Amino acid sequence: MFRLTRGQFCFIFYTQAVWFDKSSLLESPARMTDQPVSPQVALATANRILAREGVLDAFGHVSLRDPERPDRFYLARSLAPELVTAADILVFDLASQPIVPCDVALYGERVIHGAIYQARPDVQAVCHHHAAAMMPFCLGALTLGVVTQLGAAIGPHVSVWDQRPEFGATNHLVTRDVEAASLARCLGDDNLVLMKRHGTTVVGTSLRELVFRAIYACRDAQLQADALRHGPVDYFTAAEIAMAGRFPEATLARAWDLWCARLSRDIGNPPGA
Ligand code: MN
Repeated sequence: MFRLTRGQFCFIFYTQAVWFDKSSLLESPARMTDQPVSPQVALATANRILAREGVLDAFGHVSLRDPERPDRFYLARSLAPELVTAADILVFDLASQPIVPCDVALYGERVIHGAIYQARPDVQAVCHHHAAAMMPFCLGALTLGVVTQLGAAIGPHVSVWDQRPEFGATNHLVTRDVEAASLARCLGDDNLVLMKRHGTTVVGTSLRELVFRAIYACRDAQLQADALRHGPVDYFTAAEIAMAGRFPEATLARAWDLWCARLSRDIGNPPGA
């Protein structure tokens, strides 16, 4: 049987005590919310949060409108979101072309971002993803509603965009300007649009609102799909969604701080590294 000597025990106790002292149990961790960061670092952080929280995987992407130049947006080069660093972030015009010509691979579906920034001046951040949680609602049989307070971030109305009636047989990627413009029209003034047999595109008036909405929409959708297996579901009314769906900055920051803390714990290096 494994037994510790007194010296081994004291060594372990000492090292663990030091570890606990350093592990933020005695002091609050520095909150990223309080630290100004560049748009590139903020967007790299959003990429990794959305990947670690199950919204993005090897595919999907998230962008941020340039706060200084509303006719431009930031988006990573073609790369799995969990691997994105600030150095991978490029600047695009609203035609979704890079401002500085480059020879790196770009996301084929980046036109989604430019089309939505053109159509929606209020939108500051966009995420396109294929999260499994949303897919049952992209296939035709189920209607996405709201069943929890945090899920009210989905908003009172969600459309389903189907590129087949307008564009015929396609590979179910959105790579042409006309397809992206059609998607943006279907989104209208909503917070997200479901894409038939494909995925979801979510928008926000800030990067944190977008990340919050993308994550809690997936969680609400998962709950709905789970509950529907047991019978009818009692959804929020439009009035309840309107009341529940107003999330102050402090609420968004609380979630953002948690997701940032998970990133630094799991990955150990900041996205700007
Ligand atoms: Mn896609």
